[in-house]
Amino acid sequence: MAAEFDAVVVGCGPAGNTAAYRLASAGARVLLLEKEALPRHKVCGGGLSAKTLREAPFSLAPVIEREIRRVVIAYEGSQPVARELAGIGAMSQRATLDSFMTQQAVAAGASLRERETFERFELEGGRIRVTTGSGTVTAHVLVGADGVYSRVRSQLFPGAKPLMVPAIEALLWPAPGVLDMVGDTCIFDLGVIPAGYGWVFPKRDHLNIGLYRFRKRPDNRDMKGLLDAFIARYRILRRHERIQVKALLIPVGLAAPRLARNNVVLVGDAAGLSDALFGEGIYYAVRSGTLAAGAILGHLGSRRPLAAYDRMMAGLRFELAAARAAARLFYTSPRLGFRFGARNKAISAAFAGMIAGTVSPARALATLVVLAPYWLVAPPMRPVESPLVG
Ligand SMILES: Cc1cc2nc3c(=O)[nH]c(=O)nc-3n(C[C@H](O)[C@H](O)[C@H](O)COP(=O)(O)OP(=O)(O)OC[C@H]3O[C@@H](n4cnc5c(N)ncnc54)[C@H](O)[C@@H]3O)c2cc1C
Repeated sequence: MAAEFDAVVVGCGPAGNTAAYRLASAGARVLLLEKEALPRHKVCGGGLSAKTLREAPFSLAPVIEREIRRVVIAYEGSQPVARELAGIGAMSQRATLDSFMTQQAVAAGASLRERETFERFELEGGRIRVTTGSGTVTAHVLVGADGVYSRVRSQLFPGAKPLMVPAIEALLWPAPGVLDMVGDTCIFDLGVIPAGYGWVFPKRDHLNIGLYRFRKRPDNRDMKGLLDAFIARYRILRRHERIQVKALLIPVGLAAPRLARNNVVLVGDAAGLSDALFGEGIYYAVRSGTLAAGAILGHLGSRRPLAAYDRMMAGLRFELAAARAAARLFYTSPRLGFRFGARNKAISAAFAGMIAGTVSPARALATLVVLAPYWLVAPPMRPVESPLVG
C-alpha cells in the first residue's frame, strides 16, 4: 500500500504547525488535520517568552500585539515590586498566532484540512491508516499534536494521562484609559490563588487575565470564584465593559515514559509538555515540534528509528522535571514564595531568566535551593507605588 503522505499531523496549534512547517520545508508530503475552522480561539494567555520567539521556525513579528518591557509582581493586590525586563517576551492572541503559523506551514507545502477530526489510526504493513470524520488517508508517520485531551495519545497509550493542573482565563475589555495605563507591563499576583498565581497580560484592545494553579488534583470548581475575587481586588479590572471566561487544564507532566511508539509521535500538550512553575507551554510545543520533525526526517530519509525522538527529548524532559520540582517547592507557601522569592533579586532574576531562556529550569531550581540561606536573610526588594495594583 503506497502512503499518500509522509506525515499526518493532527492539530493546528504551535506544536503541529511547527512540525508541519519543518517537515514540509524539507520536502516531506504533509497533511495537517484540524477539527475546528481556522482561525479558532484557544484558551491561553498568548504570552510568548523570548525563548519561544527565538525557537519559532520563522519570525512571529506579524502577530505580536505588544512587546513586554516591565513586570510587576504583587501579593493579594498589594506590595507590588517592579522589574524592568525589556526583551523578556511579547503578547499574541492565539487565534491569530495559530492561523499565521498554519499559513506558513501551508506556504511551505503542507496540505491543510480544516473542520476534519482525527478519529483513530491503525498500523497496516508498516504504514499508518488514519481515519477522520471524512474518510481515510495513509502515511508513514502520525504526529499527535492534538492538545491536552489528545485522541492520538489515548489510542497510542491507553489509560496514560499527563499530570494536569487547572487554569482559567478571561478576556476582559477594561474601562477606557486602562489599556494605556497597563501599556507594556505584565502583572503577576501570587496571593490571589492558593498554590499558583494570577496574571494580567495586555493585548491590543483588551486584557487577558487568568489564574494558574499548581495542584495535582485538577479541580476547576472554585476557579471561577477565585477569578471573580481577583477581579474585585484590582481597580483596573473591576469596571470592565465586557468579559469572556473559559477554563482549561494544563498538562505539566509527561503523558508516557516514551513519546514515540511504532510510527506515532506525541508533541506539545498531547505529550504533557508544559512547565509546572509558570504553566508555559508554547515554547515546549514549538521545541518538541522541531525535534519531532528532525526525528521524522531522519526516519523518512535513512530509516532511522523514530525512537530517536525520545533521545532528542531527554534534555527537555529533564528541564520540565526540574520545573516541577521548583513548582513543588515554590508553591508550598506562596506567601513565603512572594516574600523571599519574588521580592528577592537573585530569585526573581532566575525566574525571569527562565522565561527569557537564559536560565534553565534546572539552574533556576538550583538557585532556589542553593541560595536558600542567602534569600532567607537578604533584604527584599522595596514595594513601589503602582496605579496598576490594588
Ligand atoms: C488558561 C491557559 C493559559 C495559558 N497561557 C499560556 C501562555 O501565556 N503562554 C504559554 O506559553 N502557554 C500558555 N498556556 C499553555 C498553552 O496554551 C499550551 O501549552 C499550548 O497551546 C500547547 O500547544 P499545542 O500545539 O500542543 O496544542 P493546542 O494549542 O491545544 O492545539 C491543539 C490543536 O489540535 C486540535 N485538535 C484537537 N483534537 C483534534 C482532533 N481529534 N482532530 C483534529 N484536530 C484536533 C485543536 O482544535 C487545536 O487546534 C496556557 C494554557 C491555559 C489553559
